[in-house]
Amino acid sequence: MLVDRFIKYVKIDTQSDEESLAIPSTKKQLNLSRLLVEELHHLGVSNAELDDYGVVYAFIKAPNADEKTITIGLNAHVDTALEMSGKDVKPQIIKNYAGNDITLNESLGIFLSPKEFPELLTLKGQDLIVTDGTTLLGADDKAGLAIIMEVVQAIMKNPDQLKVNLALAFTPDEEIGRGVANFDIKRFGATYAYTIDGGDINYANYENFNAASAVVRIQGKAIHPGSALGQMINASTVAIEFHALLDPLMVPEKTSGYEGFNHLNNIEGGVEQAELNYIIRNHDLAKLDQQKEQFILAAKTINNKYNKEIVKVEIVDSYRNMADLIKKDPRSLKRMEAAYKKLGLPLTYIPIRGGTDGAGLSYQGVLTPNLGTGGYNAHGKYEFVSINQMEKMVEIVLTMLSI
Ligand SMILES: [Zn+2]
Repeated sequence: MLVDRFIKYVKIDTQSDEESLAIPSTKKQLNLSRLLVEELHHLGVSNAELDDYGVVYAFIKAPNADEKTITIGLNAHVDTALEMSGKDVKPQIIKNYAGNDITLNESLGIFLSPKEFPELLTLKGQDLIVTDGTTLLGADDKAGLAIIMEVVQAIMKNPDQLKVNLALAFTPDEEIGRGVANFDIKRFGATYAYTIDGGDINYANYENFNAASAVVRIQGKAIHPGSALGQMINASTVAIEFHALLDPLMVPEKTSGYEGFNHLNNIEGGVEQAELNYIIRNHDLAKLDQQKEQFILAAKTINNKYNKEIVKVEIVDSYRNMADLIKKDPRSLKRMEAAYKKLGLPLTYIPIRGGTDGAGLSYQGVLTPNLGTGGYNAHGKYEFVSINQMEKMVEIVLTMLSI
């Protein structure tokens, strides 16, 4: 059963670790990956296998497959976020949620309240799973895993409903941005795919940020402050000057939706040297390039003023917006839309203000939009999931595989 499966998965601690250079970053993630392989074998998917990089692959052929049959991929990640522990998770089931405050932990005085999380009011009458207030829940992304495993179970029971080949991949280390770093796209074998790693199931995503990072290094000139007149160049002062040349409104705390930003996430400096670290984000690649240009321009302005190259900017591109690819080949979106329509469900696309493993897969050649799981408030103790939405997502995915 879906709920039992989900609870079994969240009780396994699978937190990843960005400090670790191991692959996967933590061994404990493999406890869940191995269980998934075992369960797949038990369901009759005998080719399920865990590879050396901690990725589980499996393939189910459609009963009437010929060479024209396409392969749909499904992906979810086994690891949980760094912000809060995922050890000793004690899930609590709230039946027929009435719209009230939910007591997560009486003795610690932790409550899940619609006053703080108004989306709870849209879930009245549904069954929820919440935490005990001391850990995250891990619905991100064990809800995705449970949904996919339920789909597989239904298909193995009644294989005739499968009209496409089905490729599965369960990845480690998504939360530290290494989910598809060692992904074998050929072995996966999907024509296109879906990550099941979102929130409310009425929303799906195929747009993410284009991302770059900038390191700004400033070389000052330290001299005794008593005799510094006309001589000292204070690198910290120049760092402030540099930052002031960037658009003050283009920052995370003042932007939303499709608005991009330059985010100063670290600054360090003295008189002799200073360094600023930025991440640069925009859904529009041309606009991202303009933002990068502003960094170069700011450095030039300062270097001209001091008549010396005291500021150096190094910009590195990271991930790209998969929308640019998916818009050219929207088959994956059409399939989702057809399933939602068939089930009479609303579907709205919203842009992700971040990255996704689907973007990595898309740029490796398998276009991969993202579907919801019914999970909310990921990465913290207020995380919860709607059982009704998880169940509905099983139905949606089965419908997508049967058309
Ligand atoms: Zn996730």
